[in-house]
Amino acid sequence: MAEIDEVLTHAADGGRISAEEAELLYTEAPFHPLAEAADTVRRRLVGDNIVTYLIDRNVNYTNVCVTACKFCAFYRAPKHEEGWEHSLEEVLRRCGEAADLGATQVMLQGGHHPDYGVDYYERLFSAVKGEYPELTIHSIGPSEIAHMATVSDVSVEEAVRRIKAAGLDSIAGAGAEMLPERPRTAIAPLKESGERWLEIMETAHNLGLESTATMMMGTGETAHERIEHLRMIRDVQDRTGGFRSFIPWTYQPENNHLKGRTQATPMEYLRLLAVARLFFHNVRHLQSSWLTTGKAAGQLSLHLGVDDLGSIMLEENVISSAGARNSSRLSELVELIRTADRIPAQRNTVYERLAVHWDPEDDPTDDRVRSHYSTIVKELQVTPESA
Ligand code: SF4
Repeated sequence: MAEIDEVLTHAADGGRISAEEAELLYTEAPFHPLAEAADTVRRRLVGDNIVTYLIDRNVNYTNVCVTACKFCAFYRAPKHEEGWEHSLEEVLRRCGEAADLGATQVMLQGGHHPDYGVDYYERLFSAVKGEYPELTIHSIGPSEIAHMATVSDVSVEEAVRRIKAAGLDSIAGAGAEMLPERPRTAIAPLKESGERWLEIMETAHNLGLESTATMMMGTGETAHERIEHLRMIRDVQDRTGGFRSFIPWTYQPENNHLKGRTQATPMEYLRLLAVARLFFHNVRHLQSSWLTTGKAAGQLSLHLGVDDLGSIMLEENVISSAGARNSSRLSELVELIRTADRIPAQRNTVYERLAVHWDPEDDPTDDRVRSHYSTIVKELQVTPESA
C-alpha cells in the first residue's frame, strides 16, 4: 500500500510513472485514491472544470474491405452482395448536410477497398475541402494509409504527403484496437502490426499531421497487455508530441465474427481511464465514451481524469428528423456534463473552445463535486473492494 500511495502521489504531482507502476495501480490501487489522483492531473493539464464535446459526422465511402477483422460488423468482402461504394457526389452531399447542421468536423471512414489507392483519397479529400473548407477533415488511420500505399506502390511517407496536400487535416486514431502482438493477431490477423501502426503515426506526426490515439478493450486481452498498449503509445508521444488525446472504448459484440461478450466491465474501463490519465503525463486530453458504457459510467469518468466526451454524431438519415434527434442528443449530453458538476463546452478538432454553456449555477464548488461523485459511486455500487 505504501508503494501504491507513493506512485499515486508522484503521478498526481506530474511525475512520470513506469509501465510496471501503471499496472500496479490498474490492478491494485483502491478506487477512490486512484480517482482523486487522476482528477488532480486533469485539473492541472486542463486548468478548469470544463468538459468538452464536438459536433461531427461520420461519412462512410465504402464497406468493402479485404482485411476481415474478426470484431468488425461493418465490412463486406469484395464481391459480397451487401458491399457498397458511395459516389463522390453522395459523400459531398452528406458532408454538406453535416455543415448545415453545425458540424465542425467530418470523419470519412471506410474499408480497405482493393482498388482504393492514394489517388482515390486525394480526390476524396480535395473534393470535400474544395466544397466545404469550413469542415475539418479528421479521417482515416494508419491502417488505411498502409493499405493505400500498398495499392499505389508508394512509400507511407509519400502517401501521407499527398493526402495532406489534398486536404486531410488530422489523422483518426482508428485501427489501434490492441497494439500488443498477441491480442492484435487474435482479433485482426490481417491488419498491420501494432509497431507498424505506431511507425505510420510517427511518420504522419513528423510530416505535420497530428492525430488521436485509441484503444478497444474487451476482446480477451490481459491487464498487462492493456498497460503495454499505453506504453507503446507513450513511447511515440515522447518523440513526436503528436497525439492530442487518448480515447479508449469497449468492444461491442453485435453482428461480427468474434461474438461473445465484451470482456471489459464498466469498472475495468473506468480504472483504465484513471490509469491512462496518470500514465500519459504528455497527452493533454482524455476522452471517454458514454454511449457505449452508459450515462452513469460516463459521468463518473468525469471524476476520473476525463475532460472530453467526444462527439455528438450527426445522424445519417433525413435531415429534418435528424435535426430533432441531434438537438435532443446534444441537450442530453450537456445535461449529463452539468449534472456531473462540470461545465459543458463545444470544441473543435484541436480542442479550441467554441461555445461554453456557462451559467453561474454551473460553477461547481468542491463540495458539490464531492457530493456528485459520492452519488454516482453509490449508484454504481462501487466499494474499494469491488473496484
Ligand atoms: S480494416 Fe476496418 S473496415 Fe476492414 S474489417 Fe478491419 S475494422 Fe472493419
